[in-house]
Amino acid sequence: MSYYEEDFYHEPSEFEMQVDEFRESLLKAVKEEFVSEMDRLRKENAELQEIKANFKTIKSEYDQKSRKLEYERQDLERKVRRERLSSLLNDFEVEYFTVASRSKYKPKCDKCDENRRIYYTTPSGRKTYESCECSNSIPVFEPIPILLSTFSIRRGEGHAWYSVKYRGKDDEYLNYYEDSIHGCELITDESKFEDIGYGYKTLFETKEIAQKFCDYKNKSEV
Ligand SMILES: [Zn+2]
Repeated sequence: MSYYEEDFYHEPSEFEMQVDEFRESLLKAVKEEFVSEMDRLRKENAELQEIKANFKTIKSEYDQKSRKLEYERQDLERKVRRERLSSLLNDFEVEYFTVASRSKYKPKCDKCDENRRIYYTTPSGRKTYESCECSNSIPVFEPIPILLSTFSIRRGEGHAWYSVKYRGKDDEYLNYYEDSIHGCELITDESKFEDIGYGYKTLFETKEIAQKFCDYKNKSEV
């Protein structure tokens, strides 16, 4: 290579200078873009870190609430298991009346003593007594309140009634109340009195109608 040639190559031409300038400005532009991109990424990262931190808090709060709810659910389950049957059926309870008879003396007559005995002397001369006719007792009917749990059956056409046995005790249980499958078997007025036999386990809607039935029975027993 000749000196001329070297000089030709080493003397920066205007073109080379322009290339250098261009390279400088390109580097500067790239650097500026890089810095602004870095800034943007740094800012975005900071925001993401905040979300991440919040997310951790939210997740931890959620987990805490979730555990609390689960505990409450189990606690409620335990309470329901411990709860008496009678309290659970509270909303289904209805008070009806049934009737029961108890023995009662007839009015005392005036032929006997205070113990309703009639004394007499046997043909052999021995003193003895017999019970007076008025000492025979007669059944007297009276209304008895009965608390039942009522459930609609047959798409509301009927009712099933249950009574809680051993109410208030530890071993209370639900007992099906016989003869009462149909709601229509509930006695609501006097027209049905004749069809009722003894009356045991018949259900009356109110105390008044049960008392009327008792009066009706008591009149026929005397
Ligand atoms: Zn008497």
